[in-house]
Amino acid sequence: MTERKVTRIITAHRQREGGGFIVRRPFPTHNLDMMDPFLLLDEMGPIDYEPGKAVGAPDHPHRGFETVTYILSGSMQHKDSAGHSGALTPGDVQWMTAGEGIVHSEMPSEQIMKKGGRVHGFQVWVNLPRDKKLMKPRYQERKAADIPKAVSKDGLAHVAVVAGRALGVQASIATVTPIIYQHWTLQPGSNVRQEIPSGFEGGVYVFEGSLNVGETKLADGQLGLVGPGDSIELSVPEGSEKPAQMLLLAGRAIKEPVARHGPFVMNSEGEIRQAIIDYQMGKMGTIRAGQQ
Ligand code: MN
Repeated sequence: MTERKVTRIITAHRQREGGGFIVRRPFPTHNLDMMDPFLLLDEMGPIDYEPGKAVGAPDHPHRGFETVTYILSGSMQHKDSAGHSGALTPGDVQWMTAGEGIVHSEMPSEQIMKKGGRVHGFQVWVNLPRDKKLMKPRYQERKAADIPKAVSKDGLAHVAVVAGRALGVQASIATVTPIIYQHWTLQPGSNVRQEIPSGFEGGVYVFEGSLNVGETKLADGQLGLVGPGDSIELSVPEGSEKPAQMLLLAGRAIKEPVARHGPFVMNSEGEIRQAIIDYQMGKMGTIRAGQQ
């Protein structure tokens, strides 16, 4: 086993996003364009909304990649042009493959809109390779109870395995290219080794407390990119004040040209122009009025 070391640290700060919601976004930023195959990492909140103040993302399209939503607090209501709708509550995951195109809305639940409340979660964008960019849209939704979980032998490290494999447990979500997406909670004194196959790129994003990847300490809000190797060592020193929580994201880099335009991510500017035309012509569909 060759241990991967942190080669770069990106510190994310809370900022108000265009739609009005508060995010910490390690990438894309001027410091880091992407973490191939991941295009975006947003930590939404945590934010405590006053009644009537919650904001979301009303109807908008996507093409050429996947959006993965993972809710930790609050509730998100979603609808799309293929007729799907549902609510995500804490621990739930929606892995949406936009493929050739979909129009959806992502809004806080009516309860949070009316009465206010805490919203905390993640949205990650996963790129698709050229030959899969126009695949049929696909949904994989998992309730919290259906996300495989594992605990280390000493009971100090817990992991929700959204994608990939950890502590002997395999995720149930199928990914287009090989992906690791895991939510780890590490109590003080924990020390675990996690495989990240060679050829994968990725990193560790800490969103509570602090932890060590090998010798490198990562604080709350920091993304540590890892170098070559096939595993990482995660630890939280004994006597630390609180547990650490982090997302581990890694995958086989796609290594293709990336053309981005808002909600479309293709390989070329020509394909972006086509996506805009297709969207404007209604080819990605619309959400029916009154659809539940
Ligand atoms: Mn969206």
